[in-house]
Amino acid sequence: MSTGARDTDGWIEKMRVRLTEDYEAQDAHLRHLLADTSDPEEAHTHDALVAAARQSLEQVTAALARVEAGTYGDCERCGNPILRERLEALPHARYCVPCLERHGN
Ligand SMILES: [Zn+2]
Repeated sequence: MSTGARDTDGWIEKMRVRLTEDYEAQDAHLRHLLADTSDPEEAHTHDALVAAARQSLEQVTAALARVEAGTYGDCERCGNPILRERLEALPHARYCVPCLERHGN
């Protein structure tokens, strides 16, 4: 699926590739965690790790959905574009910096 006419310099495509790699890495990580049912004393830690991995996977999935929808890089709160340097540091970022400062994450 096309990333749309806005991606004039291929940047969104570059981020899509990065998010896809992140997705595969998180998915593999989650599978690994779910397959590892070893030590019952570690169960609490294990549950926390699984929950964190699931959350990361959801965030990356949501970001990929925004790429497909053509809204990737737009703040979900105010609709302004999120700075590219912020997205390069945090590819699944949903909000622009002013919104984060105003409302928290
Ligand atoms: Zn915003």
